[in-house]
Amino acid sequence: MTKVLYPGSFDPITKGHMNIIEQASNLFDEVVIAVLQNPMKKSGLFTVEERFEIIKELYKNFDNIKVVTGSGASVDIAIAYGCKAIIRGLRSLSDYDYEVGLEQINKDISDNLVNTVCLFADREYQFISSSVVKEVLNLGKDISKYVEPLVKEKMLVKRGMIHEK
Ligand code: ADP
Repeated sequence: MTKVLYPGSFDPITKGHMNIIEQASNLFDEVVIAVLQNPMKKSGLFTVEERFEIIKELYKNFDNIKVVTGSGASVDIAIAYGCKAIIRGLRSLSDYDYEVGLEQINKDISDNLVNTVCLFADREYQFISSSVVKEVLNLGKDISKYVEPLVKEKMLVKRGMIHEK
């Protein structure tokens, strides 16, 4: 059985992330989504716990998709959950530069135990990022094309634009 880890901040999870998750779940037996606090990113919209709860709700009916949270190195989390590889999504050349460095480091610090598999989002999702979605919402524009209805609702509640149902 081949398990893979898909680590990220997911603040919030977008249809771009979900497209990568769908592809990974078709390719591998199990996908473990790891919601991580990225210490390099300034404090986000949702807490790690809130992001975890949102993603768990989105995938509650999927047998081969599991959601976890963690801190520390992605490779350690991958090893802890028995994942042979880390999935990363690529959008652009600038993603590529960053991911190549990350891949080398991850191999190095895991003594070659954890590989990285890069997947490409379908064209309509390639320009979507969590930060762009947050900016579009701040501009008062509709984000329905970029995130699931549940995520949109949670974002509107968080921004005080609507009250929780
Ligand atoms: P991180 O903080 O690790 O960058 P993100 O939540 O921003 O976490 O992204 C997690 C992974 O998903 C990264 O590999 C990122 O490149 C990828 N990703 C994010 N959005 C998209 C998208 N629209 N298409 C393809 N990959 C994406």
